[in-house]
Amino acid sequence: MDNNNTYKIYKRGETIILQGEKGDRAYYIEDGHVEILMTKPDSSVEKLATRGAGTIIGEMAIVDDAPRIATVKAVEECKLLEITREDFNRRLESSDPVIKMISQIILTRYRDMLTRASIFNDPGSVPTPEELERQLVQQNNAGEMIKMANDFKSAIENNQLSLHYQPIIDFQTGNLTGFEALMRWTHPEKGMISPGIFIPVAEDSGLIVEASRWALREACMALTRIQGQTGYNQDLSVSVNFSSTDFAEENFLEQVYLILSETDISPQRVHLEITERLLMNQPDNAKETLSLCRNAGLGISIDDFGTGYSSLSYLHYYPIDTLKIDQSFVRNMRQDETASELVKSIIALSKNMKMKTIAEGVEDQEDATLLREMGCDQCQGFYFSKPLPEAEAIEFVRNWDANPLKTSF
Ligand code: C2E
Ligand code: CA
Ligand code: CA
Repeated sequence: MDNNNTYKIYKRGETIILQGEKGDRAYYIEDGHVEILMTKPDSSVEKLATRGAGTIIGEMAIVDDAPRIATVKAVEECKLLEITREDFNRRLESSDPVIKMISQIILTRYRDMLTRASIFNDPGSVPTPEELERQLVQQNNAGEMIKMANDFKSAIENNQLSLHYQPIIDFQTGNLTGFEALMRWTHPEKGMISPGIFIPVAEDSGLIVEASRWALREACMALTRIQGQTGYNQDLSVSVNFSSTDFAEENFLEQVYLILSETDISPQRVHLEITERLLMNQPDNAKETLSLCRNAGLGISIDDFGTGYSSLSYLHYYPIDTLKIDQSFVRNMRQDETASELVKSIIALSKNMKMKTIAEGVEDQEDATLLREMGCDQCQGFYFSKPLPEAEAIEFVRNWDANPLKTSF
């Protein structure tokens, strides 16, 4: 638990939660024991349970606004961490969308379960209209995700997906090495939806597999067009993002080969970007697939490197040739020594292991210069360009040699 949280000490016999009162917080028992007591309609008090350190009490208050169904008292001095509904919702809002979606579903089920249990225990009690409405709102959230997944399905069929291309620059030569392809969804009513929102839904629903295939094919075709229309003097490459679901597909490799041969792009010009977390999720399966991809000549980049809280030993295990330094480290490296040490270590590590480094999220000249001095190989970021639609990417390539940014770092 982090230090910003509020701890409270309750003395022996003190009431923590009062039956019938509305509450807006749950408590995590850090130290001590509490007892849970219920006052029945005939005023007798029944002890339901005792809870000790490491358990949570009063958690329903985080889900809804109903009166407390029991009283909780400290049986000895207790140290409790308070978790308010507001704080919980705020944290949930800022969390990873998949975690958010899963949490919402778990909370909705938990709510339903308790409602059903209370009806079961007391056949006379039916949910109030307010309770029913709350249930509906919660089911709607899960429903909205399902609707989005459904819309996404037709997005693939109806050409609502597109790719934007973010230039990747070589620090030593200032040359363009290629692009990262980033997916965009233009929803007919909602307009442009960010991949941060729709990718998790696509992953959860399994639709990502079709979308990734589409992205790989489209990126390869675009690469031919960009190279052809600009006559750039070096072979450009394209990096495509993949999810764990993609790798779980049995015919992943076959599909990749098929797309490469159909679009006539040599595998050396295509990089698969995979997050560290993907590798952690399914190490055995991923290793074989990645090795085969690597043997075929495809590049394998680890995306968001450094955020996966994993041990580094896996780098020996997988056929990785590029580490992409996560933008959070790049963003903080000038103010925060830990971040800058981390960037240096990642660069040193990759040199030792004969891998390349790409810094992400380079937003200004100082970042670019510092990274070049640190020995980073390549970079991408708003300083050079945001991700561009294909036509603008073509313009960018055409003008790159005359672009003052090329010699600015
Ligand atoms: P990512 O792969 O780490 O992509 C980099 C993200 O950082 C992109 O966001 C890009 O627009 C943004 N970015 C680039 N330079 C800068 C910079 O200088 N500053 C800041 N603040 N941001 C910068 P985007 O396009 O919104 O994509 C978000 C994430 O969605 C991607 O993160 C990737 O994980 C996922 N994603 C995007 N396209 C695909 C796709 O085709 N397939 C899969 N599986 N995931 C995708
Ligand atoms: Ca990426
Ligand atoms: Ca990244």
